[in-house]
Parts: sequence; C-alpha cells; structure tokens
Amino acid sequence: MVDIAERAARVLDGAAVAREIRSEVAPAVADFTARAGRPPGLGIVLVGNDPASEVYVGSKLKSAGEAGLRADLERLPATASLADLLAVVDRLNRSEVHDGILVQSPLPAAMGADAERQIFDAVRADKDVDGFHPINIGLLVQNRATLVACTPSGVIEMLERSKIAIAGTRAVVIGRSDIVGKPMALLLLHRHATVTICHSKTPNLPQVAAEADSLVAAIGRPGFVTRDFVKPGATVVDVGTTPISDRAIVERLFAPGSKRREAFERRGQLVVGDVHPEVAEVAGALSPVPGGVGPLTIALLLRNTLRAAQARLYP
Ligand code: NAP
Repeated sequence: MVDIAERAARVLDGAAVAREIRSEVAPAVADFTARAGRPPGLGIVLVGNDPASEVYVGSKLKSAGEAGLRADLERLPATASLADLLAVVDRLNRSEVHDGILVQSPLPAAMGADAERQIFDAVRADKDVDGFHPINIGLLVQNRATLVACTPSGVIEMLERSKIAIAGTRAVVIGRSDIVGKPMALLLLHRHATVTICHSKTPNLPQVAAEADSLVAAIGRPGFVTRDFVKPGATVVDVGTTPISDRAIVERLFAPGSKRREAFERRGQLVVGDVHPEVAEVAGALSPVPGGVGPLTIALLLRNTLRAAQARLYP
C-alpha cells in the first residue's frame, strides 16, 4: 500500500487546472456584466437536505459568487412533489436573470424512478448548464454542443492542459451513465481516441482496461481499479467519489500512518475514488481523489453558465 506522497505516478492536479479555468472565466464574466448590465445568472435547485448535496451546492454557490456570477438557491423540502419541482424549473426557465439552471442530484426517491429524467427534459436546453438535456446530448453526439456535462468536460481539460496525448491513443472508460461515462467516451472519441466503454457486464474487465493509454474510472466503487487494470505508464483518471465510514474499506486501501488513513482517524469518514492507491506504482499519471476531477466539475459549471449567458446575449 502506498500513500499519495510516496507514489511514482505524476499527479494530475485538478485543483490547479480548475484555478486556471476560473481565471479565464473571471474577465469574461466581467465583460459580460459590463455589456449586459447584469452578471450571468445561475439558479440552483436543491430538494431536501441530503448532507453530500448540501456540501456540493454550498461549493457551487461559493465558487459562482467568487467568479462574479449571480447564483440563487431555490430550496424545496424533501416532501416536495415532482410537480412542485417542475414548477420551480418552469419559473427559472422563464427568468430573464437566470442563464443557467442546475437541479442537484439525487432527487428524493419518493419523487419516483423517472423524476431525474423528467427534470433533465424540463430544463430549457439553452439553460442546461449540466449538459443533460437530450438536445445537448444529441449535439454532443454530433460534436457541436455548447453545453457539455461538467465532469467529463473537466476530465478533458485536465488531460489536455496536462499535455496528455489523446488523439491516436487507446482510451477505456469504465462506467456508462448518461451523465459521466457516455459523454466522457464521446468527448474522447471526438478527440480521436479509440474508445472502449466498459460496464458491469463487461467480461475480462482488467484485461480490457489494461489496453488503455488513458483509463477513466467512473463507477462509484472504492478502490475497484487495481494495478492489474493498468498498463504500465498509462494515465488513470479517477472520477469516483464515494463517501465511506467503513473502517475495513479504509484499511484495505490506505496504509497505517498514511495521510488518508490519518484523515479517516480524525473525521471517521473519507471520500474515496474508484482507483486503488497501489495504481500509483504502475500508472504514468494519476488524478487523485480528492483534488482531481472534483474541482474541475465546479470550474466547468461556471464556464457553462458563462457560455449559456453569452449565447443568450448574442444568439
Ligand atoms: P452510476 O450512474 O451509478 O453509474 C455507474 C457505472 O459504473 C454504471 O455504468 C455501472 O455499470 C458501472 N459499474 C458499476 N459496477 C461496476 C463493476 N463492478 N464493473 C464495471 N462497471 C461497473 O454513477 P455515475 O453517476 O456515472 O457516477 C460514477 C462515479 O462518479 C460515482 O462515484 C460518482 O459519485 C462520481 N461522480 C463524481 C463527480 C465529480 O465531480 N468528481 C461527478 C459525477 C459523478 P452498469 O451500467 O452495467 O450498471
């Protein structure tokens, strides 16, 4: 077992890339505000009090404020109906001051299995800063989308700005969700990687993954990707973020005395990626959790809100 400080792989510093993107967004936000007489506006909707969602929404509001955006939080109780939520989305769709709308996932189970999809469909496509609307997904398939899902876009920014080659390489994405795995695969494809998408029914997953020059893990299973999944020297991007409080998992992943183990001892909880820390011994470059993809997701949300605002001002 290795700690982050001991590992051999180059660390892909998502926080630094996110700062770079935010520094590019800031002057463009100021320019928009001067021209439009108002800042780009983001409406965030939070249903219920899921603790992780509270943290994510708090970070998004703070980052948006720091970037000079207008950011408004619309709260609904956990008991709200889908109709209540659709009414809020409808109001934001018609708002003149909100250019972007984000409905925080997950929605309460009581809203029904199809609620998330109905909300993705209901948000106006030109305000869909999450890039989840079917129109934006269709445009992504055709490689002409303006609003693309923030997490996969963040991964691309991290790879490109870290000078990791994509064109002509083999890429493997583990995970095929509509919000991470599929858009990730399309973005890599559009950059001329030869892309394989894996999922829970993929046979010989470690062997398939080990063909990758770039391996993206978006599964939600702590430490699932072990060294046998990784070709020596490959780039490994860890999208997974699973909060854990189970000591046995922490002990399986992190050595006694390591920073992450100490953090667990202090807090009794850790957010853990899909990639086992031992992968650092074989990978050429590796994005950590935390500090890898997470900060980029928020930076790309800010950029998407700016882009949505610009597209509304100069259609
Ligand atoms: P999801 O909707 O649950 O999808 C998970 C995917 O992983 C599915 O396609 C599933 O395959 C696949 N999978 C599950 N177990 C597997 C196994 N044993 N072998 C191979 N594939 C397996 O999750 P998601 O929304 O895409 O999110 C994935 C992870 O990324 C989560 O940890 C999430 O918290 C994290 N995430 C992080 C950020 C960020 O900002 N850092 C943003 C979004 C998501 P099937 O389709 O066959 O079931």
